[in-house]
Amino acid sequence: MSAILEVRGLNVDYGPVRALHEASLRVEAGRIATVIGPNGAGKSTLLNAVMGVLPSTGDVRFAGRTERGAIEQRVMHGMCLVPEKRELFASMTVEDNLLLGGYVRIDLRGRGAEDTKAQVLRLFPRLEERRTQLAGTLSGGERQMLAIGRALMARPRLLMLDEPSLGLAPLIVREIFHIVSALRASGVAILLVEQNARAALQVADYGYVLESGRITLEGPAADLMHDARIAQTYLGLGGRG
Ligand code: ATP
Repeated sequence: MSAILEVRGLNVDYGPVRALHEASLRVEAGRIATVIGPNGAGKSTLLNAVMGVLPSTGDVRFAGRTERGAIEQRVMHGMCLVPEKRELFASMTVEDNLLLGGYVRIDLRGRGAEDTKAQVLRLFPRLEERRTQLAGTLSGGERQMLAIGRALMARPRLLMLDEPSLGLAPLIVREIFHIVSALRASGVAILLVEQNARAALQVADYGYVLESGRITLEGPAADLMHDARIAQTYLGLGGRG
């Protein structure tokens, strides 16, 4: 299996405070890798550094080349980040939010945007039903779907999702993760950052545990699900191990 993303020895500092220490991980092409960990572990920091939103030291290799440039360049190479805050345009329709998502790819502007939009709407029937509705009037789950759909408009090869389950009811989380799984089947690689360890490990192929800015454990997601410490700390399965 070839890695589409390979991160080695990534460090991020907020002033004098180091938030990420020598983080290394890889995402295989067409697979889902997840990073789980508690509040404040550095999960968003990691994604933002990979995307070039935050300055970092270390190595980010994407599709065989080292990424040193700005966000726009990384988007053009095929990376996309759906941030935790979703950042939609509330006073614009679902459809216009989607079209703006395609616009970030300067190289693709206009080209095939309608086809990509039709594909995205097929993936999210709820968005299809609401295509003329203002984004600000959507439910939390629909907003998350729109944020993912908008990212897909840039036709990414790697989609990075920052806590897509945040603030959503369990049924909606299941729906979102079902779609994430369908995306893998379409060939997009996914780096999923989550506090909801159970949902993330169920959908992922490989997992990393990030604690206090350090990757402390990694392995196939199915193995992590059965790891006694993970079960106790992150899956709430009691302390009798
Ligand atoms: P959460 O699940 O709560 O979003 P997280 O795992 O994504 O947590 P980060 O948001 O990456 O964690 O934060 C990692 C650490 O860096 C925390 O201690 C946080 O307080 C700190 N931090 C994050 N952003 C900044 C900033 N702009 N300036 C200073 N410290 C920051």
